[in-house]
Amino acid sequence: MATAETTQATMFCYQCSQTLEGGCTRVGVCGKSPDLASLMDTLIFGLKGVAAYAHHARELGKIDPEVDGFMHEALFATLTNVNFDIADMLGLVLKCGQMNLRAMKILDEGHVEHFGAPVPTEVPTGTRAGRAIVVTGHDMLDMEALLKQTEGRGVDVYTHGEMLPAHAYPALKKFKQLVGNYGGAWWVQKKEFDAWPGAILATTNCILIPRPTYKDRVFTCGVAHVEGCTHIADRNFEPVILKALASPALPDRPGGKLVTGFHHTAILGVADKIVAAVKAEKIRHFFLVGGCDTPGMGGNYYREFVKAVPEDCVVLTLACGKYRFNDLDLGSIDGIPRLLDIGQCNNAYSAIQVAGALADVFKVGVNDLPLTLVLTWFEQKAVAILLTLLALGIKNIRIGPCLPKFITPNILAILVEKFGLIPTADPIKDLEAALAK
Ligand code: SF4
Repeated sequence: MATAETTQATMFCYQCSQTLEGGCTRVGVCGKSPDLASLMDTLIFGLKGVAAYAHHARELGKIDPEVDGFMHEALFATLTNVNFDIADMLGLVLKCGQMNLRAMKILDEGHVEHFGAPVPTEVPTGTRAGRAIVVTGHDMLDMEALLKQTEGRGVDVYTHGEMLPAHAYPALKKFKQLVGNYGGAWWVQKKEFDAWPGAILATTNCILIPRPTYKDRVFTCGVAHVEGCTHIADRNFEPVILKALASPALPDRPGGKLVTGFHHTAILGVADKIVAAVKAEKIRHFFLVGGCDTPGMGGNYYREFVKAVPEDCVVLTLACGKYRFNDLDLGSIDGIPRLLDIGQCNNAYSAIQVAGALADVFKVGVNDLPLTLVLTWFEQKAVAILLTLLALGIKNIRIGPCLPKFITPNILAILVEKFGLIPTADPIKDLEAALAK
């Protein structure tokens, strides 16, 4: 998977198209500083994230000309000899965050109009005996088409990774063959798909190059392509269904359950209960812990953090970073679950709506709410979401498990000074510091 992290390894000079290994050694020749290159990388990665959300929205019939216009302006601004101004480039980077909010908004509207507003839903994580297809990626329209085509075919459908919130949309959850969720974050998929006997459909990014052991059962659609795997261009998933029918059946294996679907309409539907619990000092603090999961041990930070969150605090989460801890049973406070899965990464829009509504109720700014954001970042959409939060003026965000490598020390210093960005460190000490705020 091409990520912001991995792409950094082949960062190019925007002036001369040479690689910038070891930092820009051509300053004075091409006139670009590493800091300007860093901001341009941030902008380009952010634009990729905006493009993903805007594309999904367009598929649902939602278009924002202002977002489209900005994509052109911003890409043009990264062109050779166009923009050598750090302050202006920083402005474009933050505007990218504003445009991402607009893109996430129309995507949310498209999803809700097409599939209905998500409702909190329990999702089994075991498997039931039978032939099956697992769907990974992010595209709900692909999921809808597959569910329509698998009706009455004797094939079950499971979600994987970021498709989990499909279970919460009324127009999708009504299909009886949508039976559960299999697996977790994108980076564990090689192990998980190796153990999956059925067909696999990858709808978007975050598909990894498959192992030979299961490659013949992988199908792609939309923008996702893998060399040697069958690509479905027209949402006619018959080849996927036939592959599932010809593959071994899944075993009957009991599992646990996950709960998803806490869209902002669901959370704000019980806003009076939440406000009453805050006023009665039964809820002391809210944490938003989530984002794009990063492979490796660094991600354990988020599990340790959530495990240590005191019982009078609520954790909101989204995106695949939640798989680090969403198996934990945190219980509830006055009927309000202490772990609220808002949905996919683009549902950061819902988190922003909830934070804004709470700020209105308590008549304070979002930065004055008892709310701490603890983000895990990895790929381009996470960059776009971080830029959105910064553009909204949200401060003191903790970000980890490592800092974006394309951010130079000087640019980091600007972000720390302007926005109080805090790199994650020790989960317990970070939690104590957040609660002491
Ligand atoms: S949340 Fe981010 S890393 Fe995870 S599957 Fe979605 S885009 Fe990929």
